[in-house]
Amino acid sequence: MADPHVLDADGRRAELAANLADVTQRVADACAAVGRDPASVTTIAITKTFPASDTRLLAGLGVTDVGENRDQDARAKHDACADLGLRWHFVGQLQRNKARSVAAYADVVHSVDRLELVDALRAGAARAGRVVEALVQVDLDPDPDGDGVARGGAAPARVAELAAAIDEAEGLQLGGVMAVAPLGVPAEPAFMRLAEVSARLVERHPQARIISAGMTGDLEAAIAAGATHLRIGTALLGRRTAPLG
Ligand SMILES: *Cc1c(COP(=O)(O)O)cnc(C)c1O
Repeated sequence: MADPHVLDADGRRAELAANLADVTQRVADACAAVGRDPASVTTIAITKTFPASDTRLLAGLGVTDVGENRDQDARAKHDACADLGLRWHFVGQLQRNKARSVAAYADVVHSVDRLELVDALRAGAARAGRVVEALVQVDLDPDPDGDGVARGGAAPARVAELAAAIDEAEGLQLGGVMAVAPLGVPAEPAFMRLAEVSARLVERHPQARIISAGMTGDLEAAIAAGATHLRIGTALLGRRTAPLG
């Protein structure tokens, strides 16, 4: 792919439009294959490492949901794009000392995997006078103590406790679950385990129906397993040059 910085805005717009059309087709095909309505799947454009001008172009192409994984970049882009009416998702591993900051601009935080984050997000939401939707990030690694790269997330057995804490926190709204497929194992069985975790959560919290799963390489598997939200970076924006997240 060409470097986005050397394309003029029209060239970049055309490139993003073509990428968006491809992703929309992949989502439609994956939904058709398992009898799902594409309207039941929201695609979040993960814009990390790309400039705010890309976020603006995507909004012009009809993208409504965007995601970032680093507080500093996310905040700057949010502020630069405040006029666009976008829904902002924070999808990165979250440090406690960043959670308050994130709660000031994120509409949905996908990466709540420990109790101290619930409290920090609650404090941040209260200070900002906002309501923030929070998802419990689930660790789908079947061998969490193995030598796989840690991708964040709470063990499935801890999800109920975290969900209850979010549900009770003023200014936070429990939205559902999120996961990143573990490396080196097939994605679909992992996403099926996430669907089971989601089903148990929804029994107790009927409104918490979000299943955030699926990236560029595994969106079909995620749709087959019932994902409601996809987090798509590379297929929409191109390859990232910086090795982030
Ligand atoms: C970067 C990132 C994505 C997007 O990944 P792609 O493979 O580029 O689509 C999704 N989720 C999280 C948590 C990410 O950090």
